[in-house]
Amino acid sequence: MIDLRQISSLKKITEKGSYLLIGSMVSDRKIESSRLIKEKIPLIAAVANNIGDPQVRNRGTIGGSLSHADPSGDWGPCFLALRGSAVAVSVKGKREINSDHFFTGPFSTALKEGEILEKVMFQIPSGASGYSYIKIERKAGDFATASAAVQLSLDKQGRCSYIGIGLGAVSDRSIRAVKAEKKVVGKQITDDIISEAAESGSQETDPYDDMIRGSAEFKREMIKICIKKALTEAYKMAEGLS
Ligand SMILES: Cc1cc2nc3c(=O)[nH]c(=O)nc-3n(C[C@H](O)[C@H](O)[C@H](O)COP(=O)(O)OP(=O)(O)OC[C@H]3O[C@@H](n4cnc5c(N)ncnc54)[C@H](O)[C@@H]3O)c2cc1C
Repeated sequence: MIDLRQISSLKKITEKGSYLLIGSMVSDRKIESSRLIKEKIPLIAAVANNIGDPQVRNRGTIGGSLSHADPSGDWGPCFLALRGSAVAVSVKGKREINSDHFFTGPFSTALKEGEILEKVMFQIPSGASGYSYIKIERKAGDFATASAAVQLSLDKQGRCSYIGIGLGAVSDRSIRAVKAEKKVVGKQITDDIISEAAESGSQETDPYDDMIRGSAEFKREMIKICIKKALTEAYKMAEGLS
């Protein structure tokens, strides 16, 4: 049994060039209240705020949650939407794992035996950008029934220059809605495009029927609502800044 709590280097939040680096042992509470994170990548703070309740956020860490890889966890969709990367460390050295390759199945990651997650890295969005995290939950503090994290940027002509859509609780792992992103990127965003992306994102999911949070069909409908709302909010925010 190895306790990582005394390793102070794993508890740091730093800015390096155009990246934010968050140590694996940084608590959700510290992330939620970090001025640097709120200023540079507010989506991350917003996601932290959606996790469990204050007690859970005081104990839970971003690295523990990502390594645990719960398909309904809140960090997965955020990690994917921002196309972050994970730095794994072992006695053999370090390696970077892109978010697209991090989750390998339910409660499974690309971390190998002997490796720990040292930190996660996120590129700081530039230009007119907006974000949103929409989580449907049965009751306050619950894991998601369905959730969508959206990060987007607009170019000077108002076209979408970056879009990341990460989905939670609608597959055996957190997933990126790649086809939905393709409906939006490079375009002037309209209500029709948002609806098409939400439909497409819902088709990319593979939820399972569950006695507690509902049927697969219900979750597919819920994720459509999450994507639509998150895209609309993120776009409005970015448009307000452009
Ligand atoms: C009541 C309750 C409600 C919750 N609600 C939510 C919620 O709404 N949304 C949500 O996303 N989560 C939720 N969680 C999960 C919680 O936020 C934590 O993420 C989770 O419990 C993991 O806790 P931890 O960070 O202390 O990691 P640990 O429990 O210490 O570790 C989890 C796993 O990851 C491994 N691990 C930990 N750190 C590393 C590392 N650096 N490198 C490699 N492996 C590592 C451990 O060995 C273990 O297998 C909830 C948990 C509880 C108990």
